[in-house]
Amino acid sequence: MANTILIALGGNAIKQADEKGTTEEQFKNCRETTGHIANIIQYLAPEDRLIITHGNGPQVGNLMVQQKAAQNIVPAHPMDVVGAMTQGQIGYMLQQTLMNHLNEKNIKKPVCVLLNQVLVDSNDPEFIGENASKPVGNFLTKEEVQELKIKHPEYIVKKVKPNDERCWRRVVPSPDPIANLDGEVINKLVDAGVVVITSGGGGIPVLENGKGQLKGIEAVIDKDLAGERLAKIVGANIMFVLTDVEKAKINYGKADEQDLGKISYDVAKKYYDEGQFLAGSMGPKVKACLRFLENGGEKAIISSLDKVVEAYRGETGTIIAK
Ligand code: ADP
Ligand code: MG
Repeated sequence: MANTILIALGGNAIKQADEKGTTEEQFKNCRETTGHIANIIQYLAPEDRLIITHGNGPQVGNLMVQQKAAQNIVPAHPMDVVGAMTQGQIGYMLQQTLMNHLNEKNIKKPVCVLLNQVLVDSNDPEFIGENASKPVGNFLTKEEVQELKIKHPEYIVKKVKPNDERCWRRVVPSPDPIANLDGEVINKLVDAGVVVITSGGGGIPVLENGKGQLKGIEAVIDKDLAGERLAKIVGANIMFVLTDVEKAKINYGKADEQDLGKISYDVAKKYYDEGQFLAGSMGPKVKACLRFLENGGEKAIISSLDKVVEAYRGETGTIIAK
């Protein structure tokens, strides 16, 4: 039977932490990333289906800075629109570099990028009061917070470092994704043998008003949790979460730190419940893997980009299966 594989790419697949984020740097990283993806495509059977999703944190951050810096010349756009802009930006870079690799390998496989909306719930706890938890934009001083609050009284600002002058940041809700809204068209494309790049940055978060009308909202959906929703609508049996570590660990950062290899759902769930995986980084990845298996997935793999083929063969990575 054909496999359906979803690959979720982490932040460093597109921009490394020590880089500014120039076009050249991002194309170089994308070229390397899609080189690994082309290798896995080469390894797959022709009838296997492949869907790719990716993060957008650094790109959205940079674009928000540009919006703010130029707001007296051209109007700034809200986060849902900026999110859509980065889906296009990153999607383009991944698409072009992947097409070039496939061409070089003489593999005939179309690649497309699809803007993608993801439904969230207006009653999600993240929208209530000051619950919002996802920091966005620059670190601010107390004075800058006061200025920002005059312009945008609706913004939530939180202290995100204990004792630094610049310890404040705007936070936005990070609601749980309920459903991917473009399932039908994504399925038609993957059925036709197209490699689909979609749901970038966790998708564009939208609310529905009960009458079928959608509206974007300023929020950030975790890209691995949104990736799981995407995996569900395409019926993926294998989900890859590719990041900058070859394996997830228990006792992370401690003297008795230990790599996790092949583990069962129950063991992964136990470690997750113990808090072995940090919130905001490895935590949501493991959570997405657990959900994937709960929703009928066969195998969820956390590994690094350069190990994707080995991990697919079962030679490395943290491989969680029921
Ligand atoms: P990405 O940006 O690639 O989606 P993140 O940077 O958010 O991923 O998460 C990956 C990071 O999670 C690792 O580089 C590591 O620093 C951190 N991490 C937190 N807990 C763990 C753990 N238990 N095992 C391994 N890495 C962990
Ligand atoms: Mg990262």
